[in-house]
Amino acid sequence: MVINDFKRTCARCGGSGHQPGFVQMGVSQINYDGRCPGCSGRGFELTELGRDLVEMLRPIVMEMIQEERADAEPPPRKEKLV
Ligand SMILES: [Zn+2]
Repeated sequence: MVINDFKRTCARCGGSGHQPGFVQMGVSQINYDGRCPGCSGRGFELTELGRDLVEMLRPIVMEMIQEERADAEPPPRKEKLV
């Protein structure tokens, strides 16, 4: 299994992730954002297998992020009782 089983080069931008403009209803438009709308600037699209993998890993990654945040949070301040 290789990485290309999970993603493929975006056909719209050829993998650059950029698109300076596009044609809409026969009229050339400037793409102000500059990012390819086909791949959101990533330059690749996920295959069906890739999407499955992402869905499988999402809960694990979310858990890792939450653990990371819990570690980063400062300890709760002790309030003085008057
Ligand atoms: Zn693209």
